[in-house]
Amino acid sequence: MLGKHVTDGVYGKEEPGRVAEAFEIGDFKPGVRAKARCDVMGVEPYSELDGMLVRRFLTPAHDQALKTLAFWMEQAGMTARRDPAGNLVGRYEGDTPNAPALLIGSHIDSVRNGGRYDGALGVMLGIDVVEALARAGRRPPFAIEVIAFGDEEGSRFPASMTCSRAVAGTVKPSVMEMTDGDGVSLAEAFAAFGLDPTRLEEAARKPGEVFAFLEAHIEQGPVLEAEGLALGVVTAIAAQKRLMVRFTGMAGHAGTTPMNLRKDPGPAAAEAILALERICSGGKDGLVGTVGRITALPGAFNVIPGAVEYSMDVRAEVAAIRDVAVEAVTAEIEAIAARRGLDVSVTLMQDLAASPCDPSLTALLEDAVAAIGQAPRRLPSGAGHDAMVIADLCPTAMLFIRCEGGISHNPREAVTEADCALAAQAMLGFVDRISTQFSLSSRTSAQREDPGPTRELGASGDPGSALRSARDDKL
Ligand SMILES: [Zn+2]
Repeated sequence: MLGKHVTDGVYGKEEPGRVAEAFEIGDFKPGVRAKARCDVMGVEPYSELDGMLVRRFLTPAHDQALKTLAFWMEQAGMTARRDPAGNLVGRYEGDTPNAPALLIGSHIDSVRNGGRYDGALGVMLGIDVVEALARAGRRPPFAIEVIAFGDEEGSRFPASMTCSRAVAGTVKPSVMEMTDGDGVSLAEAFAAFGLDPTRLEEAARKPGEVFAFLEAHIEQGPVLEAEGLALGVVTAIAAQKRLMVRFTGMAGHAGTTPMNLRKDPGPAAAEAILALERICSGGKDGLVGTVGRITALPGAFNVIPGAVEYSMDVRAEVAAIRDVAVEAVTAEIEAIAARRGLDVSVTLMQDLAASPCDPSLTALLEDAVAAIGQAPRRLPSGAGHDAMVIADLCPTAMLFIRCEGGISHNPREAVTEADCALAAQAMLGFVDRISTQFSLSSRTSAQREDPGPTRELGASGDPGSALRSARDDKL
């Protein structure tokens, strides 16, 4: 069945009820097995601790996971290697050797007491996609590489996404100096893992080696479940601003200072937090605002605080929407302070740009989702992912998979076998659609007798150029 071309309706709407059934290859059920493998890796030796999942970068649990993943990659028909940054990369050659690669993957590390599917599911789904192709004897016109990024969460060292940054060529060698909670430097951890810390930058992929990246990931939010949908197509990874707000008044005795003579920053902060909620509730494009930490100083039952400090995290799919919200809330904060006779400061701590997914790839993914009878719901990702870093290397697309209650970074994280099977089908449909474009553009190129890059996906030399320029336009 898989040997047929997508236009034959293998994944088509014609037989949506039969897709799951038709999709079993012997005892191999793509997606279902991916989930089962995440479950296998949810415990020792793939976890550092008994009774909870914690698999941090460059630990023995990480090493065990890579050994088993390499075995599964080889079983699926890939060659597996560890790159100089500690990523595991499996390669399935296309119909011509050394063709540029479609990169599929996610991260294999976890937070402490994390869930089994965050990251790992995207890696396992990539392996299932390749095995489905291999078992059907199919080789696309490009290579497929499945990657397990070593460090997305930043749960061991203070910086996150070091490994995907290395692949994208945007990592700085100074990261080697950072230390984990036990004082072990990244350089020392590299050496202990059998990696050469001086070769980190050699993990960078050259332009043209990789033409697109597909990351499948659990949604980590409640939208798909609320709408009764298994899959979502990510439009962009949100732009994020982190700010600290500090209202300063006058500390005083909680019993002796009359209400009308106080300069209490507490109620001012309360008003300002409500203003953030109101402004973000009226927003669009995934605008969200969160106060995750509040501190009253000096912090005693019987003392009117002299200062109240809180964090603000504001995100939206489009940076301009986020920035308008931050400006509006800052204006309200200043008005509240002025009315109450308080001092206030709003300090920007971090400004992360949005990472739009590639419009052409996103349309292909959407089409692949629709073709298996699923409503192609577009949504932004409020959380950061490796895809936002890989966007510096090549165009990206992201598929979200519904997770129970939107719960993640928690052992209660859960996905269904049926949803994982649908994800694998959508990913295979995506591979088919890129293959078609690839072949079309090669033909166009041959007809014009022009061996140079074409405007289409699949140009010889740098097949990602058309997609990349589309992305640059959007940025
Ligand atoms: Zn993740």
